[in-house]
Amino acid sequence: MKPTALVIGAGIGGIATAARLAKNGYSVTVLEKNDQPGGRCNQIVREGHRFDIGPTLFLMPEVWEETFASLNEKLSDHLDLRRIDPTYKVRFKDGLQLELTSNISEMQAQLEKVEKTAFTGFLNYIAEGSKHYKISLEKFVGRNFYNIFDYFSLSNLPLIFRLKALKKHYANVSRFFKDERLKAAFTFQNMYLGLSPYDAPATYSLLQYTELAEGVWYPMGGMYAGIQALVKVAEKLGVKFIYGAPVKRLEIAGNKIEGAILEDGRVFTADVFVGNADLPYIYDQLLPDRAEAKKLDEKLYTCSTIMFYWGVDKQYPQIAHHNVFLGGNYKDSFDRIFKDHTLPDEPSFYIHAPTRTDESAAPEGQDTLYVLVPVGHLDENSRQDWDALVARARQQVLERLAKEMNINDLNDHIKFEIVHTPKIWKEKFNLAKGAAFGLSHNFWQVGYLRPHNRHTKYKNLYFAGASTHPGTGLPIVLLSARLTTERILKEMGTITEQNLVAARAAANA
Ligand SMILES: Cc1cc2nc3c(=O)[nH]c(=O)nc-3n(C[C@H](O)[C@H](O)[C@H](O)COP(=O)(O)OP(=O)(O)OC[C@H]3O[C@@H](n4cnc5c(N)ncnc54)[C@H](O)[C@@H]3O)c2cc1C
Repeated sequence: MKPTALVIGAGIGGIATAARLAKNGYSVTVLEKNDQPGGRCNQIVREGHRFDIGPTLFLMPEVWEETFASLNEKLSDHLDLRRIDPTYKVRFKDGLQLELTSNISEMQAQLEKVEKTAFTGFLNYIAEGSKHYKISLEKFVGRNFYNIFDYFSLSNLPLIFRLKALKKHYANVSRFFKDERLKAAFTFQNMYLGLSPYDAPATYSLLQYTELAEGVWYPMGGMYAGIQALVKVAEKLGVKFIYGAPVKRLEIAGNKIEGAILEDGRVFTADVFVGNADLPYIYDQLLPDRAEAKKLDEKLYTCSTIMFYWGVDKQYPQIAHHNVFLGGNYKDSFDRIFKDHTLPDEPSFYIHAPTRTDESAAPEGQDTLYVLVPVGHLDENSRQDWDALVARARQQVLERLAKEMNINDLNDHIKFEIVHTPKIWKEKFNLAKGAAFGLSHNFWQVGYLRPHNRHTKYKNLYFAGASTHPGTGLPIVLLSARLTTERILKEMGTITEQNLVAARAAANA
């Protein structure tokens, strides 16, 4: 008889783990609380406007390719990827604009206008990012750590220093650029990890390298097309998805999970359980051990976001596909988000206008605009009046668009508006503290120090997703699915290490 697996959550991590387990002979069922898959990588379609609600940057396509290859599929048969270059338009309050691009001579011209030596700084910075990317992926992100000695091994220790894991990103970027605006332009990307560059390890310069060298991509049909493709492949492999199926608690027998009990009382049993719902939420809400849940509650969490999804009856071509508006007082704005857990006085924000690349995202001649404003996560000890913060964020976004882009009539052309606050991230997807990107990624919360992808006590409970190893972001969660599957197959005796190496080699070929 086939071994059975039950996956809790149909986020990208849950779908990919389910598909990989099915490919390796498991009979897999996925229980998802919402009525469609995707989790944070979801979509809203209304009046012909199609919004991706969370991720908009398709990064590290090679990781997606490996996932599909491991399932005997070709990514290009499923997704029509288009490279977005310039990746973003970055705007500063003083009027400076930069277009981050892989076109080296264009970067040179732009950077040298700001600072004479900035282009050399840029080349060195990207070279360092490339080194960080390669070492991280091979030695830290793309592998499991089974014990502390695996992680702090004699061969890894020097790498931790080479990766500048103990150095702060903002301090490190100052070696390459003097102009504060350039330092901001090459560190704000830490927000994708939900981190302040003043706290993020310098290792994360790898993100800028990834974007400019490996590219920022867009799947035609939207980011959700990636989820739809994965679900299709998983279903083809026999995975059964059950939607509208919120798990209420996990039933325990000794050191094993025996079953998942749904809100409506239904019980599902399996040999192996995979928690894809946010890991701290699972410990807090689905498992009995209060001490473990409390320890997790005290960890550092990423920021949250206020989102505006606007269906607009007019097009604003001056807004590019990806636009970043950096607020004033860079350092203070991160303190307001990460220390005071609120909205900065002069918030930075990001606008996504997918119709620049994909006309199908809006009715003809109209726009689908997504605005992301980073804010603090939910915190009982901070005064958080979300209605007031949303109103201020909205006003400040519209004011900047009017002042800097001469867009004065947007408010009159918004046909409908959907707003997400940290409370909605929490309610809709059970994200602990409404932290949009899950647990934070400082030195003490990565690698072996991050909550493990197997529960220490309940031996048949595994985790795949943003808050376990290796971390957040779609491609990194795809890696999490690979690592968790490999671990299950190894520990449940379904596959040997030797087979695993052979399987990986075959997939890479
Ligand atoms: C605003 C925003 C922008 C982002 N931008 C990017 C980007 O541009 N590029 C990028 O790569 N990444 C981006 N990310 C990060 C990325 O979205 C996440 O890292 C990734 O989607 C996490 O996937 P996951 O599978 O870990 O979790 P989730 O997507 O959270 O999936 C978990 C699933 O579990 C379900 N669930 C929860 N509780 C239960 C329960 N009790 N029973 C059953 N099901 C349950 C949830 O409904 C959900 O479907 C962004 C995230 C956000 C929020």
